[in-house]
Amino acid sequence: DLLVVGSANADLVIGVERRPHAGETVLGSDLAVHPGGKGANQAVAAARLGARTALLARVGDDDHGRLLLDSLRTADVDVSEVRTGGAPTGVALITVDPSGDNSIVVSPGANARLTPADVRDALPALRSARVVSAQLEIPLDTVGEVVRLLGPGTRFALNPSPPAPLPPEVLAACDPLIVNEHEARVVLGDTGDGAAAGERSEDWARGLLALGPRSVVITLGAEGALVADARGTARVPAVPVSAVDTTGAGDAFTAALVRRLGAGDDLPTAAAYGARVGAVAVTRRGAQASFPTADEVARATAG
Ligand code: ADP
Repeated sequence: DLLVVGSANADLVIGVERRPHAGETVLGSDLAVHPGGKGANQAVAAARLGARTALLARVGDDDHGRLLLDSLRTADVDVSEVRTGGAPTGVALITVDPSGDNSIVVSPGANARLTPADVRDALPALRSARVVSAQLEIPLDTVGEVVRLLGPGTRFALNPSPPAPLPPEVLAACDPLIVNEHEARVVLGDTGDGAAAGERSEDWARGLLALGPRSVVITLGAEGALVADARGTARVPAVPVSAVDTTGAGDAFTAALVRRLGAGDDLPTAAAYGARVGAVAVTRRGAQASFPTADEVARATAG
């Protein structure tokens, strides 16, 4: 029902007292290796919520690739469209300091080799999906090919992360375009007066809609989200929780949103569910480890 087209990375995490300067070595904690990448994260999050989910991605023929395939299979993601080889599995080298600030180096690896030809090879999966969801940790040309080959009955959602200016044909296909504040700025080409999205998000939503997407969702962290389409804009309140780790909140929100859109919800209803799932995810540590099941969402955010 849902096809996610995106990245799969191994996240290699080391805790440090402070970051090394150029030429310096510092000692850190034991290494932790977690499955990650926005594509794999969104696929796992959606499957955990009960969506029949497949992932079109590329990993290396290596241990990191096998770790990712294992985590996907454990979450019940269909991995028959996960390609193997061509480059090492994508890796994020992450150092975390005691204040929780991250420094991250990403090696896209196999993600950069997910090509338009891979999309054409996945045509039956693409055509049979109700909703196709993509991000930008894979080549933009590959996302462009997804958009070109979409069937008339398939809805397309894009989370442009990491953000980049988007070609008109990709923008026109988005229903919705899902952005956080930073992504909204980049997609709008906003040089910015530094005003927070909270104050201006209605303006941003109108500006984004003017670029061509059929609908827009702006996520605002603890402020919730804003949805917008030709009929107008609506605020989606956040579910109040005490956040311990916001890693993966956006992926959890997006996965929940597209899962509910695929089930026939309208955009505000689907976004409200996204906010509930995002809220549960921020009460738990990690990315994939923080994604709840539908039962857990119901229990944690009753009402
Ligand atoms: P990203 O991780 O992409 O920056 P956000 O931080 O905007 O995305 O989070 C996505 C969604 O998760 C928000 O729209 C909100 O619904 C939920 N969320 C995030 N942080 C919190 C929080 N501190 N409390 C409650 N909900 C949150």
